[in-house]
Order: sequence, then C-alpha cells, then structure tokens
Amino acid sequence: MAKPESQYKSFLKENPDSNFTFDEWKSWLGNKIASVIVNLGEDQKICHNCKHLLSMIALGQGLRCGHPNKTPKNYMIPSKWSTCEMFVKKSKKSA
Ligand code: SF4
Repeated sequence: MAKPESQYKSFLKENPDSNFTFDEWKSWLGNKIASVIVNLGEDQKICHNCKHLLSMIALGQGLRCGHPNKTPKNYMIPSKWSTCEMFVKKSKKSA
C-alpha cells in the first residue's frame, strides 16, 4: 500500500480543483473510511451479511454466491457490498 503522502499526491492529481491540505485530506479520508465501516454493519442487506456468501479467496476463487437458485452456480460477486433480492441474513452461528 502506498504511503499517505503518495496517496495524497495521487488524490491531487485526480482532483486538480481540490484545495485540501494534507491534514484536511487525511481527515476527509478518515471520515470516508469510517462511513464505509459503518455501512458494513450487521443490519445492511449486503452480501457480506448474507448466509449464501462463499468466501473462496484463500482458494483463489474470490467471493462467490452459493444461493441454490442463482445461475450460474457459485457465480462470482463483484464485492461484499453487493446485494440482490435473494439476500438471507446469516445467523451469528454461521458468521
Ligand atoms: S448475491 Fe444475493 S444471495 Fe448471493 S450472497 Fe449476495 S445477497 Fe446473498
């Protein structure tokens, strides 16, 4: 992962109209990361909280959906923040 100073330079390159100082950018980034973490809360209807999520990252297969009615079978989901109409909240035991 790039050092914060390098990330800040990249940010300024991608956002030339920004007036953020380095400290302001760090604060903005911290708030942004915190909001993402809050959105991963247990009540969110996202794949991360669904009992059908299959984490096959260790096998090099990424995140997959194991819902029996999904086609293709065990299809790769784009991220754990995705969702669908077949969401089923996982129980604490299966977490
Ligand atoms: S795609 Fe739907 S069923 Fe599959 S893990 Fe995500 S929310 Fe659950």
